[in-house]
Amino acid sequence: MNNFDLSSPSRRHFIAIVGSAAAAVAFAPRFLFAENKGIVPTMIDEAATATIKTHSLRRNISVLEGSGGNIGVLTGKDGKLLVDSGFTVSKPRILEALNSLSSDPITQLLNTHWHTDHTDGNAWVNAAGAKITAHVNTKKHLSTSTRVEGWNWTFPPAPAGAIPVTVFNDEHRLHHNDTNIALKYYGPAHTDSDISVLFEEADIMHVGDTWWNGIYPFIDYSTGGSIDGTIRATEWNLKVITDKMIVIPGHGPIGNKAGLTEYHDMLVTIRNNVATLKKQGKSLSEALAAKPSAAYDAKYGQFLITPAFFTSLVYSGV
Ligand SMILES: [Zn+2]
Repeated sequence: MNNFDLSSPSRRHFIAIVGSAAAAVAFAPRFLFAENKGIVPTMIDEAATATIKTHSLRRNISVLEGSGGNIGVLTGKDGKLLVDSGFTVSKPRILEALNSLSSDPITQLLNTHWHTDHTDGNAWVNAAGAKITAHVNTKKHLSTSTRVEGWNWTFPPAPAGAIPVTVFNDEHRLHHNDTNIALKYYGPAHTDSDISVLFEEADIMHVGDTWWNGIYPFIDYSTGGSIDGTIRATEWNLKVITDKMIVIPGHGPIGNKAGLTEYHDMLVTIRNNVATLKKQGKSLSEALAAKPSAAYDAKYGQFLITPAFFTSLVYSGV
């Protein structure tokens, strides 16, 4: 997978930046990454040069990988429908990838949640012709100045064109390109704005950042996320996802129910390990020293969210 190509110089640099920043985790979450350029500029710089990789899944549905979160694409006579918009710096390469799929214009955009690595491109995608649909809290967070403490970053209100026009609370349905699309709110999970997007005929579900396939997730406590909410969302995913379904995670390679089950077990194990340490009265630095995620670090700790950072995110929520 291009996104995890450890041999690329920019990837090595990326990991080095984030890895060294996590050493500061013992002091306080708000100082995370403060000694470096910060996690948000790091993600943007990564997207500025990343190659966009296209994966064709089933029927007329593909995924573009390489600009923030995974972008789902449904092509057809009604125009392209996108799930998430990546970072604006990737626009030329995203357009190139979209044009290589078909010549249909972009007419619809769905946001899985409000985070910048999934919505920064909203303005240009809207200017290209897309109507934007999302959970009501995505509109709320994009409309006002919003701070993410774990990223040590405050986002200004998004431009008018980037803000979703169609919003919903619990469920929403669309029919587009002969495809029934079901949107469902998770409740507070990774943020308070996460939704799943199910393409019914193709049996493909985009689960947004309720799943980071093979990597530790970020959890945004500043806008309603928590470790327990993240686990609840994963349990809901496992209830509705079948063995035949293709699952598009927010980050990481395309997956299935087996991978999602392993991810759920990882979350629960680390959550329980950290909760036990906290109940024993251990401070965050003592809990980190006990390495409660050790069994999973070799596999899950190789990307943006390091073992220490993930442990600190879990510690804040138990
Ligand atoms: Zn996110």
